Amino acid sequence: MDIRVPEFPKIEISRNLPEFDLIHNALLNPEEKTFLSNFHNYMEEYLEKDLKILEELNYSAEVPIQDKKREIVINFMKKLAEKGYYSTSIGFEDNDVGSVTKNALIALTLSGGFWSNNSERYINGNWSIEMGRLAGGTLYCNPLNYKANKFQRDKFLIPVVKNGLMAASAMTEFKIGSDIVKIELKLDEKYDSIIANGKKLFITNGMLADYILLYGRLNNGKIGGIIVDTEHQQLKNFESSRVRTYGMNDAFVSRLVFNDVEIPKENLLEADGLDLMFHQLNEERLVISAEAIGDCIKKLFFSLSFALQREQFEHKLHHYQIIRFPIAENIRQTNLLLSALINYTREIDKHPQPSNSKMIASQAMGLKVQTAELAFQCSVDLFRTMGGRAFTEQYCNQMGLLDSYCMIHGGGSHYVLEDAESRRYFKVRNY
Ligand SMILES: Cc1cc2nc3c(=O)[nH]c(=O)nc-3n(C[C@H](O)[C@H](O)[C@H](O)COP(=O)(O)OP(=O)(O)OC[C@H]3O[C@@H](n4cnc5c(N)ncnc54)[C@H](O)[C@@H]3O)c2cc1C
Repeated sequence: MDIRVPEFPKIEISRNLPEFDLIHNALLNPEEKTFLSNFHNYMEEYLEKDLKILEELNYSAEVPIQDKKREIVINFMKKLAEKGYYSTSIGFEDNDVGSVTKNALIALTLSGGFWSNNSERYINGNWSIEMGRLAGGTLYCNPLNYKANKFQRDKFLIPVVKNGLMAASAMTEFKIGSDIVKIELKLDEKYDSIIANGKKLFITNGMLADYILLYGRLNNGKIGGIIVDTEHQQLKNFESSRVRTYGMNDAFVSRLVFNDVEIPKENLLEADGLDLMFHQLNEERLVISAEAIGDCIKKLFFSLSFALQREQFEHKLHHYQIIRFPIAENIRQTNLLLSALINYTREIDKHPQPSNSKMIASQAMGLKVQTAELAFQCSVDLFRTMGGRAFTEQYCNQMGLLDSYCMIHGGGSHYVLEDAESRRYFKVRNY
């Protein structure tokens, strides 16, 4: 059964918003524009169909959709990998655009969508698919690129980057969310093996992943990271299942159980687990910021079109200031954050070493907090603009209306860092 109410037409996005037309405005340089334009063309030609099927499946009330979605998501990452869009951690093609900027431009577009100048219509994005790309292509690949030895790179990194295999990064546990230093999962070293015991929660791609970078506590009490080959999810004593979330419909957020799982010791990364996790943080923060900005753009396109089309009290909604003002303000804020994002990613690409400085880390964190909050605000304003219709799945599905609600905290401990950041300003001697 299709849950759609026939009286409600699909919201069609009727026109471009020049403020967000990155191919034609001054923010990006010519090389970045070429990269983005190629990605736009690829998304329109090869990815949009899958994104539409994923959306359509959400309207089936009785048909089991998970298996169908699983197949689409797995193939989607392969298609991204064909052109180097899954992970930018290893650049196989010479390109004048840095890897972090590329990663952010892909995230922005895949999450939010864009107005196609080829076909004069909006190509809708999907934040949850982008979350899967981030988990496999960045959270898994970047630490391996940083510390994997030759054997580990050849076996567990290159095939993921090149062929788009599903991968995941498993940090969060039931008791330990924001406070990752307290990870409890045990990695017990025995001769040539490591025996894993414990549980992980909220792991994006977890139940689809061929490879999982699993963080746990070693015998010496330190945190380590080990690559788990799930043998296509058939690994002995390993279980994975889905955690149902509001929004983020296609991210396959999972619960993992390791009950005496034996992993070859050669899969252990020679690095401190905390160093592995923190090493990638700047890039992760900026890519999530890009996703959030993409989501703002999507919500603003929908708000604008609904306000242009819907009429009440004999006026189109956009005649009312209370509808118009938040849209205009959110467009302005989104643009400011977009230019900050591109400047940070370029800076990190140019100076990868100083990028690890505390100042850049805290600016990236600040951007992530602001962008996630703005995405949340754009959703609230879209909800308000749409009135009762916003509460129907019919429209939620089309817009990923609840995605930003997931990210406001689940994207990773915003307020912990914000709290620490605010304390820094008041750290003075002799008071
Ligand atoms: C859609 C989604 C996908 C995810 N994907 C992954 C994944 O792929 N891999 C993975 O390992 N994890 C993943 N996570 C988990 C995510 O990293 C955690 O949800 C996050 O770290 C927050 O932990 P928590 O949910 O336990 O919240 P808690 O740690 O319980 O925090 C609850 C609230 O309190 C705030 N808070 C906590 N401590 C402090 C403090 N000291 N000061 C101020 N405020 C504080 C937090 O910011 C948050 O708002 C995902 C989560 C979601 C929702």
